[in-house]
Amino acid sequence: MPELPEIRAHAERLTAELSGIRLDRFEPLSFTALKTYAPPPESAHGHELRGVGARGKHLLLDVEAVSFVVHLMQGGRLRRDTSKAKRPRNGVARWHFAEGRRLLLTEAGTERRAGVWVVEGDPLVREPLVELGPDADTVTVEQLTALLAERSMRLHTFLRDQRVLAGIGRRLANEICHGARLSPFVGTRGLDDAQVATLHTAIGEAIAEGLASERGRDDMSASKDRPAQVHSRTGEACPVCGDEVREITYNRYTVNYCATCQTGGRILADNALSRLGVDREEWGRGRQHG
Ligand SMILES: [Zn+2]
Repeated sequence: MPELPEIRAHAERLTAELSGIRLDRFEPLSFTALKTYAPPPESAHGHELRGVGARGKHLLLDVEAVSFVVHLMQGGRLRRDTSKAKRPRNGVARWHFAEGRRLLLTEAGTERRAGVWVVEGDPLVREPLVELGPDADTVTVEQLTALLAERSMRLHTFLRDQRVLAGIGRRLANEICHGARLSPFVGTRGLDDAQVATLHTAIGEAIAEGLASERGRDDMSASKDRPAQVHSRTGEACPVCGDEVREITYNRYTVNYCATCQTGGRILADNALSRLGVDREEWGRGRQHG
């Protein structure tokens, strides 16, 4: 899933391409595209696109009168539409701008979860963005300390919970835990001040690295092209210590880690998670937001 770096760099690209151009028409292409009833998308017609912003894993098209909040979910993409197709393949919604320019939201796969919210006023204080925690790279060490202390969760689950910190998915959570040399399953209340400071640095570095990589591209990367030391690197050598990168699966959910760097050499077996006290409900909830 595109995470904060991919979304933010893409927002910058779309702003450079389309800001100042008039929106003539918004066209939903699937029944599940539009997640809101009011205001109607027609209220944006004839207004200029002021820019495209990013919040967590969401894109925000600011069209003067209203904002379109777009969530790409797993397989969604928002791109310039250069086809002439009336019903583009995997099409979810389309924005028709002046000068014949069009933006097309597509979603690969069959889940149909990508969508568009039309929001009046400040979109940050309205659904769906109001539920988000702060963007993960904007919190101070003090704020992070408070967020960790407020809840008892496994670190990997905490990092991916969009209501706590916005913008981190599976890849960044794996990379941040590895960067901080922390077990993905350590409890949020089990970290000392030095570990929280290291975690804070790792969050900033992983996001900055992703942003730098993504800003060098002319379209959103595929997940295999994103920087990763451990994510999806099962069986490869850890670039830090040379140990083998391992994976652990729980409820069809895969976490990558390096035992030498992160768990004091302890190799976690799939069935060991229950002994670590990771409950099914917590992981199920994490997946909803991950
Ligand atoms: Zn290592």
